Amino acid sequence: MLEKFEKYPLTFGPTPIEKLESLTKHFGGDVELYAKREDCNSGLAFGGNKLRKLEYIVPDAIATGADTLVSIGGVQSNHTRLVAATAAKIGMKCRLVQESWVPHEDAVYDRVGNILLSRVMGADVELVDEGFDIGIRKSWESALQDVKDKGGKPYAIPAGASVHKYGGLGFVGFAEEVRDQEDELGFKFDYIVVCTVTGSTHAGMLVGFAKDGRERNVIGIDASCTPKQTKAQVLKIAQNTAQLVDLDKAISEADIILHEEYAYPIYGVPSEETKEAIRLCARLEGMITDPVYEGKSMQGMMDLVKKGYFPKGSKVLYAHLGGVPAINGYGYTFRNG
Ligand SMILES: *Cc1c(COP(=O)(O)O)cnc(C)c1O
Repeated sequence: MLEKFEKYPLTFGPTPIEKLESLTKHFGGDVELYAKREDCNSGLAFGGNKLRKLEYIVPDAIATGADTLVSIGGVQSNHTRLVAATAAKIGMKCRLVQESWVPHEDAVYDRVGNILLSRVMGADVELVDEGFDIGIRKSWESALQDVKDKGGKPYAIPAGASVHKYGGLGFVGFAEEVRDQEDELGFKFDYIVVCTVTGSTHAGMLVGFAKDGRERNVIGIDASCTPKQTKAQVLKIAQNTAQLVDLDKAISEADIILHEEYAYPIYGVPSEETKEAIRLCARLEGMITDPVYEGKSMQGMMDLVKKGYFPKGSKVLYAHLGGVPAINGYGYTFRNG
């Protein structure tokens, strides 16, 4: 589906799929749980889902003759960390706007994890006192202008690399890769569970899996706590991406399955149930999920299994999208394990 698009390699290649044997057993074995390890997809700054998106954005950035990648996220944004890594790798400068998206408890929250890594990679990091919003921000536009004023040539990458025209392509590739892996495994996955916030991961998967009729088998777990805006953004990106790849069917709102009940209390703050899901997954599988994104989708998947949402015998693929460095900002939360 992506043959006509240029791709700049930032990842190792296809990501492994592994069976979560202990978790499967823990929940009684009626539903088989697997994970596709996007968290292990690259040697660039611990990897994660943003790199698949950036692989299709970098050729455009290079073609414009830009010398600085400019992006935005929360203080512990995984996305900005990976934009910093990408800029380093391709020999560009990097300007990052880090907003106060999360009311946090740790004194070192803005010194550890993702933001520490971005600073080490040489990004120009600016902390801005604005709250959570997945849309286009004034602070980001000011940063773009500032780069220009100083004689640079900025290239704009929006939050999560999502509302960029090519933001959805990377995860169309994820679906194609899963199809190839299914041929090798000799079975197909009935459901794919994905954490959804700025929307292009879910949107890309939806378009990719629509090719074999599985668009509604992509089960989004909202972690934004602003699900209306997230859902609208998934739809917009999916429709744009479907057009780009000449998908032969229309994507409508009904195709977007988004579970809204796991994002509480708010973006970036884990509930007791999210913390329990993080611990259970870590203790049974040694697989680490973070308190902002993957812990919530892990909680969602576990709860849906418990509730019998997936029919007996289903094979469920959990897309582990990365994000582990952020857990360093939650030392207080996990001070007793
Ligand atoms: C960005 C991110 C997500 C959400 O992906 P979107 O494309 O923004 O919806 C989920 N998990 C992790 C670890 C992320 O960094």
